[in-house]
Amino acid sequence: MIRALDPISFADWFRSHGGSQNSLKRMWDPIALALGFIDTEQISARCMLTIFMMFASKTEASRLNMLAGSPDESIHKPILRYIEERGAKVHTRCQTRRILFEEQNGQTQVTGILVANGEVDEAIAADIYLAACDIPGIQRLLPSEWRKWKEFDNIYKLEAVPVVTVQLRFDGWVTELHSAEQRQQLDHAAGMDNLLYSADADFSCFADLALTSPQDYYREGQGSLMQVVLTPGDPFVKMSNEDVAQHALKQIHDLFPASRQLNMTWFNVVKLAQSLYRENPGMDPYRPPQKTPVSNFFLAGSYTQQDYIDSMEGATISGKQAAAAILQPTGYQVKGTGLFKY
Ligand SMILES: Cc1cc2nc3c(=O)[nH]c(=O)nc-3n(C[C@H](O)[C@H](O)[C@H](O)COP(=O)(O)OP(=O)(O)OC[C@H]3O[C@@H](n4cnc5c(N)ncnc54)[C@H](O)[C@@H]3O)c2cc1C
Repeated sequence: MIRALDPISFADWFRSHGGSQNSLKRMWDPIALALGFIDTEQISARCMLTIFMMFASKTEASRLNMLAGSPDESIHKPILRYIEERGAKVHTRCQTRRILFEEQNGQTQVTGILVANGEVDEAIAADIYLAACDIPGIQRLLPSEWRKWKEFDNIYKLEAVPVVTVQLRFDGWVTELHSAEQRQQLDHAAGMDNLLYSADADFSCFADLALTSPQDYYREGQGSLMQVVLTPGDPFVKMSNEDVAQHALKQIHDLFPASRQLNMTWFNVVKLAQSLYRENPGMDPYRPPQKTPVSNFFLAGSYTQQDYIDSMEGATISGKQAAAAILQPTGYQVKGTGLFKY
């Protein structure tokens, strides 16, 4: 039922049920921009309604949570520890450059992958191959010969959206609204300890990381570390980092006028020209299943077929589905279903 709404935008679906334009602009656009980095005219009704069905049915799903510290410390390292404790090894900074394959009894089989190892490429052979790439990565990696299968060819119809993230450090507390004294002191953190949304800035969601994730981001003697996510990112990818930071600073000043009394002491800009899968109306059928026409080659990644949005949860679901497809011939099953399943 919800999947059948993929061809229309959330805005069209909302208006067809009597929803107002102002509600789209003031409430639903910031939500769509925060979730998928595109607005309600651009995002498919399937995508938004899937999320809200989950929020409606799972109490814990609509809780706003921030990590205690940086993603590296709070997500990546615990995952790495878990994997390594079970005897697996993770190699970073070694790009898979090419997939080697051959025809065996009329069936295509992967025979190895070429992986960058310093100046040379190293061939690695395995029983099963799983490519858990992002969209630009998988589009570069797949052999062009495989585009004869629609499951692979359709991947080239998928697009990724640009996004720009800006961090700005201040010598006081930007979101402290009540007391000028609290705003300007540097003995302790003050202000709003939550993820914040706005319809009045080019960043739809933002937070003071020194308050929400103090473990790594609160610094003694320093103030707010505002992180803002500029969406849609298209106009900002082309701008210089200095101009992007000044633009974000001006909009922070407009939202929190008293922060004009504070100084920005540092900034950092991260531009991703291709980030999330662009969840436009009508694109869902082009997402590939995890099982592919090549019997020992599987796909995972948030952009592959899974019912949740492009997110950590979506990536996890895709991984579980890939594991289930790999294990299918053995009779073993994957434990657990993740947060979401319909
Ligand atoms: C600014 C921003 C904020 C976000 N905030 C949140 C959030 O708060 N919550 C949330 O749930 N999600 C969030 N997301 C979305 C989340 O990051 C993605 O949905 C998730 O990372 C997708 O996981 P993935 O494994 O599918 O792909 P990715 O995390 O993109 O991983 C794919 C990896 O494959 C690698 N790769 C590609 N080609 C090759 C190759 N040939 N050889 C080797 N490696 C290759 C890439 O370098 C990449 O590291 C955010 C995304 C962005 C950009």
